[in-house]
Amino acid sequence: QPVLAVEHLELQIGGARIIDDVTLSVGSGEMLGVIGPNGAGKTTLFNLMSGIMTPTGGRVLLRGDDVTRLTVQRRARAGLGRTFQTSSLFTGLSALENVRLSAQVSIGHELSVLARPRRGDAATSAAEERLEEVGLAHHAQTMAGVLSHGDKRKLEIAMLLATEPSVILLDEPMAGVASGDVPELVEVIRRVHRSGRTVLMVEHHMDVVLGLVDTVAVMHHGQVLAWDTPQAVMADPTVQSAYLGESL
Ligand code: ADP
Ligand code: MG
Ligand code: MG
Repeated sequence: QPVLAVEHLELQIGGARIIDDVTLSVGSGEMLGVIGPNGAGKTTLFNLMSGIMTPTGGRVLLRGDDVTRLTVQRRARAGLGRTFQTSSLFTGLSALENVRLSAQVSIGHELSVLARPRRGDAATSAAEERLEEVGLAHHAQTMAGVLSHGDKRKLEIAMLLATEPSVILLDEPMAGVASGDVPELVEVIRRVHRSGRTVLMVEHHMDVVLGLVDTVAVMHHGQVLAWDTPQAVMADPTVQSAYLGESL
């Protein structure tokens, strides 16, 4: 049974089919790459999966349960977490404080920006572990706003992990990251995946997901053009023509 699945998913806005009969699934511990040109519907698909938007047709299933009409919070409590294409951290707080806030929310404490991290408290040690996991332990006391783009993305992943998701949706985690910092970020994502989490990752470019994901879904005009191993997808002539004029 898939951990996360969408069946005949559809989103119509003002007569336009933004998402058009999309069926996809990801098994436990798998990593699925979602690629496609700008405007293909990748972010919208994640919005429908995570509950930010409600589809006009079809279903979203989390471990077999129909969650199509559940709120973002209910899905998050069921283990579905996501990052956003644009940055969502508190720039004036330290890296540790940012992760600690996420950890507190998942542990169920009151959100408290003013409470300083104290050693020994459960949320602080959880936050320290997450920073360690993404390779940011040395930046625990650094203000999030001054981190490099690559480190900001790692911090966002640490914040997501602090909510203890079993399925994570990463929307273009490499966006805005200097090309020299991409390999390190890819390594962090690989590690997050290898620790047993199911990962879905939106990426504009094929080369980034190659060698990282188990399967790739190619989206174009709201539809899934191909859904297969990266090698099979690369060789698919339909995919080649959809990307005409744009590099995979
Ligand atoms: P991608 O992430 O693949 O670049 P998006 O999912 O952001 O694509 O967008 C897919 C299409 O849906 C685009 O044409 C976009 O303009 C349109 N779209 C997305 N959200 C909305 C919305 N709330 N209202 C109207 N159109 C939208
Ligand atoms: Mg886009
Ligand atoms: Mg997008």
